[in-house]
Parts: sequence; structure tokens; C-alpha cells
Amino acid sequence: MRTARALGLVAAALVVAAVVGADAARDPTRSSRPRELDKTYDADFDYFVYTMTWPGTFCEEKHCTKEPRYFTVHGLWPNYENGKWPAFCNSSYPFDENEIEDLLPVMNERWPDVLSSHEGDWLWSHEWDKHGTCAKPVLNGEHEYFAKALELYDILNPTEVFAQNGMIPSNTRTYDRDQVISVLTKSFGDTFVIGCQESGKDLFQIEFCLQKNFQGRNCGKSANSNCSSRIRIPN
Ligand code: AMP
Repeated sequence: MRTARALGLVAAALVVAAVVGADAARDPTRSSRPRELDKTYDADFDYFVYTMTWPGTFCEEKHCTKEPRYFTVHGLWPNYENGKWPAFCNSSYPFDENEIEDLLPVMNERWPDVLSSHEGDWLWSHEWDKHGTCAKPVLNGEHEYFAKALELYDILNPTEVFAQNGMIPSNTRTYDRDQVISVLTKSFGDTFVIGCQESGKDLFQIEFCLQKNFQGRNCGKSANSNCSSRIRIPN
């Protein structure tokens, strides 16, 4: 009986590991900082990564139903100092849209799922299951998790910073990578890493690193940008 139970647990662990591994392997959006998923699922993490996506680049090779001309939230991710992160920490607390009903209008604006291949609330459900469930004990429950991410948008929004510095989205203009970093540093300090797609040519996302009290912090040694020396912010 005991052996059968032990075998069952091993099989379950293998299934989880396979799912997590496959997710990491097929995820092209983690191009700026490829990080290994932690296999211990220990949610006692070290800091948060708050990631903003530029839809003009995200939608270049994907079919999008909408393409906001502003940075949108990708996720708020618990992270470890060693560059790994916990994932899928509590399968007994699945995403429930009813819990965040009051946030939905702002969610749709700031954290939209833009992919035509996704149904309904795929992105929110994915982000909650994979990352939000690991944000405990700092953020307890779905409402606290999503509300905090929406609140951060007010202070960590690169869209205006670029506009104020004449860095206008364009398919033809390119900007000096160091200039882009310097403009962002003036507003946000040394608290972020920029990531690019299209062989490093197009700005894709900005990862802000935050202490568990949500003060900005350095992203650490593993935080290397993969952007070329000149980059576009495509339309
Ligand atoms: P994560 O596993 O948290 O790194 O999220 C990666 C997944 O989220 C990938 O499947 C992406 O295609 C998807 N994703 C990221 N941003 C968006 C977005 N704005 N709309 C739809 N899907 C997204």
C-alpha cells in the first residue's frame, strides 16, 4: 500500500516537472533572461520581477486581436536571488475571475490578453496559476495579487517616459540602446533590464526588479540585456 502511494507521488512529481519543463522550453517571451525553473517549488522567494511588454513587438510574429500603443503588464513574478523562480505553487487555488470582478475594467486596459489564439482570461489564469500562487505570504490571494500589479502600473510605466523623451514608436526609427537605458534609469534608477526580440533589434519588454516591500532594487548579476546597440520601438 505504502509502495503504491510512494509510486503515485513520484509519478505526480514527474508529471508536474514535465509540464513545467515544457512550458519553459516553448516560452519565447523569456528571451532577455533565460532562467531555469526551480524544481523545489519553495515559495519563500527573494524578490519580484514586474514585467511590462511592448505589444508592437509582441504582436510582430503573432496574431493579436488588439495592439495597444502602450506598455501592458505581462506579469508579477516571484524570483530567487540565484535567478531561478518558483512556479505553480498551489494547484488547489485555481484562478477565479469572480474574485477580481471589481478590477476587470482596469485589468482589460492594463493587463490585456492580446493573442487571438487565447480564449477569455487565459493570460490572467496562467499568470495566477504559475506565478501568483507563489507570491504568498507577501500577496495573499488572487485579489491582492492582481490589485498590486495594477497599482504598480501607476509608478512603473515606461510609456510616458519614452514619449517625454521623444522616443516615439516607429517602424523606421532606431534608438541607441544606451540612450534608452539612460532615459529609463533617470526615471526608475538601476532597477530594470530591457529585453528585445527579432535578434535583439526590437524592444520587447522591460523587467523591473522589486524588493518584497515593492521598493525598486537592482536586478542582479544574471540580468543581462539581449538588445542590440540600436533598437526599434515598433508600431
Ligand atoms: P510566463 O509563463 O509568465 O512567462 O508567460 C508566458 C506566456 O504568456 C506565453 O505563452 C506568452 O505568449 C503569454 N503572454 C505574455 N503576454 C501576453 C499578452 N499580453 N497576451 C497574451 N499572451 C501573453
